[in-house]
Amino acid sequence: MLGVLVGQLRFLRTVKPDSRTLIGHLWSGLLCRCPKCGKGRIFGFSLKVRDECPVCGLSFKAHDAGDGPAVAATFFIGILALAIALVIEFKYEPEMWVHVVVAVPVITLGSYLILRPLKGIMIAMQYRYRSVEIEDDNLGQM
Ligand SMILES: [Zn+2]
Repeated sequence: MLGVLVGQLRFLRTVKPDSRTLIGHLWSGLLCRCPKCGKGRIFGFSLKVRDECPVCGLSFKAHDAGDGPAVAATFFIGILALAIALVIEFKYEPEMWVHVVVAVPVITLGSYLILRPLKGIMIAMQYRYRSVEIEDDNLGQM
């Protein structure tokens, strides 16, 4: 089991973000890099997705992640926060304010930290599987 995991981690280290495989796209999304070139950053400040890749010029407007990453982040962080709360409650039986002091940073920081890679993966998967046509404002204007 551990050998398989180590082998997979070694494989992931050899994958270049710009490769055209599924793992390459997942990896570039996890690193929040452009799914086309693997070099340009997807995000500007905080969670705001750039309009286009600063390296290759791929438009990210057509690859909107929507609310999918937020739903997934809520699901994962909710389970994590519940597990932590249950462990604390059954092991230490603390006052209620201890749960608040522990849960608020776990939920806020955890959601923020997990949301960027989830959005990156969603954008990379949309780039890989969804054929989009960019609306060109200049079309039809002669
Ligand atoms: Zn790019």
